[in-house]
Amino acid sequence: MPQTPAPTALVVANWKMHGSKALLTEMAQNLAAARLDSAADNGPPATQIVLCPPTPYLAPLAASLIQAGAPGIQLGAQDLSEHPEGPHTGQISAKMLADSGCQWAIIGHSERRTQCGETSEQTATKVARALEHGLTPILCIGETLAQRKAGTTEQILSQQLAPLQTALNAAQLRKLVIAYEPIWAIGTGATASPTQAQQVHAFIRHHLDTPPRALLYGGSVKPANAPALFAEPDIDGGLIGGAALVAADFIAICRATLRP
Ligand code: PEP
Repeated sequence: MPQTPAPTALVVANWKMHGSKALLTEMAQNLAAARLDSAADNGPPATQIVLCPPTPYLAPLAASLIQAGAPGIQLGAQDLSEHPEGPHTGQISAKMLADSGCQWAIIGHSERRTQCGETSEQTATKVARALEHGLTPILCIGETLAQRKAGTTEQILSQQLAPLQTALNAAQLRKLVIAYEPIWAIGTGATASPTQAQQVHAFIRHHLDTPPRALLYGGSVKPANAPALFAEPDIDGGLIGGAALVAADFIAICRATLRP
C-alpha cells in the first residue's frame, strides 16, 4: 500500500521593518547552501520556507534566491490593502503582490492591530482579497498577557476568527494558514511552552469547522526551543521574527521541522 507522504512543514520569516540588500544576499546564499528546499525523490520539499521581507526587497530577494540557487523558497508580503485598487496612497493590493511574484501574505499581525488599529473585520476582508488573487494568507491571532491571565485566551481567539468564518466558505478556509502568536511572546524572549502552544493549537483546530492548511506558532521561536515546539502534534511550523534575521538561527529553526 503506498505510504501517505508526511505533510510539508512551513516556516515563515517575518523580517518586519528590518533588513538591507546585504542581508537578503547573505540570507539567499546561506539558504541555498543549506539545501533545505530540495525535494527528496522529486517529491514536495519536507519544509516549505517563505520569506517576508519589507516590500522594496521582494524583487531583489527573488533575484538573489534564483541567483544563489534556491528557487523553491517562496516570497510573502507582510500586509496588503483591504481595497482592490484606487486612491489609497501608500497601500499595496493583493493583485499587485501576486503580479510581483508573491505567493503568501501575512495578515493581521498584532503589530498592525495595535499600531494601525486594524480590526478582525478588516483582516477577514484582507484574507478574502489575498485568496481572490491566489495568495495564501497567513492570518495572525493571539492574546495579550492580561487576557491570558484573565483566562480569556479562547474567547479572544474566537472573536478574532469570527469574521473570517462568515466571510469565507469552506473551500477558502481550507487554504488559510493561521499563526497563533501570543502577543506576550512576540519579540520578548518569553516563548509559550510547547504544552501551552499545543493546547491553543488544538483549540483552534477544533474550533474551526473546516481545517486550515496549516497552524503555525510564532513568538520568540529560537533554535533552542524550536524542536520541542515543532514536535507537538498540532504545530505545523513557525512564524519567525527576530531569529529570521540571522541566517544560522533561521536555518537551524527550519531544520528543526525535519522529523527523523
Ligand atoms: C513575529 O513578529 O511574528 C514574531 C514571531 O517575532 P519574534 O519571533 O521576534 O517573537
